[in-house]
Amino acid sequence: MIHATCGSHTHVGQVRDGNEDNYVSIEGLYFVADGMGGHSAGEVASEIAVRILQEVYTDPKVRVSSPGLLADAISTANTAIFMEAMHDSSKTGMGTTLTGLAVTNSPDNQIVVANVGDSRTYLWRHDELRQITKDHSHVQTLIDRGAITRAEARVHFQRNIVLRAMGIESWVDIDTFPMTVEDGDRFIMCSDGLVDEADDDEIETEIRLSTSVQDLAERLVDLANRNGGRDNITVVVVDFAVSDEELAIVELENTVVVPETDALSATEPITEEITVITAITEHDVVPSTPSSWFTVATYAMWLASAAITATVIISAITSSQ
Ligand code: CA
Repeated sequence: MIHATCGSHTHVGQVRDGNEDNYVSIEGLYFVADGMGGHSAGEVASEIAVRILQEVYTDPKVRVSSPGLLADAISTANTAIFMEAMHDSSKTGMGTTLTGLAVTNSPDNQIVVANVGDSRTYLWRHDELRQITKDHSHVQTLIDRGAITRAEARVHFQRNIVLRAMGIESWVDIDTFPMTVEDGDRFIMCSDGLVDEADDDEIETEIRLSTSVQDLAERLVDLANRNGGRDNITVVVVDFAVSDEELAIVELENTVVVPETDALSATEPITEEITVITAITEHDVVPSTPSSWFTVATYAMWLASAAITATVIISAITSSQ
């Protein structure tokens, strides 16, 4: 069973007038969205993205249990942004990045990380920081080609060019990463306002100094602001604890339904035990008082037996004379 603890913080930064970032941080759903587009349209796009994603995720009819279902939910959000831009010319071309994770309802501690754009999801596991998502950005393609380093990408003049975004087209290509959560895993979702101002070593230092998930979210925003704060900064941090609680309950149920004298294995399902009891009740239990037919049949058998005995005795007397 997974237990999550989350913290979050967003800030306009030191240069921008408005904050176009948005995030969702509810039980099981942790995403950051970084909007783009003039006249506050970016703020609208990122708000629609996290709102629609939350609505779909919390809809009891939609149970996110696989990467495909999370991608469907994100596609629904993409369509909502696209349609909003179609109906309002002041929002034409608005879009947003989106990255984060959803806890699925699979019993084996499965989550799905998803990404569109250049916001990032990191994993802190076993004292090591790892970027789970891959940026859909121009500078990432330059890194992949070996043309520039990660450090050079952070200060590259084209670092803000994204190759994928939500709401630009009627469909969107979504990266999904199914993962099994380990006890002690810490996931960090952030907009590029953090990673353009701070490298992985600086982020790692703040992780080691932090006292809680909320403290870390605020520390990372402060770090980006100290380093210049040229963009909006948003950070969501979630810690996972994995317990054997569910396993213990299953074992207890199995133990209770199996009688001590029964040869059934402890892993026999409870339904089979109920089936056996039902079969005995309906078909094999003998009534406690005999029926009238049973009584007549008994007398008839007794009379026949007596007649045979008498015949044998008479025959014996006759033959001895
Ligand atoms: Ca940004």
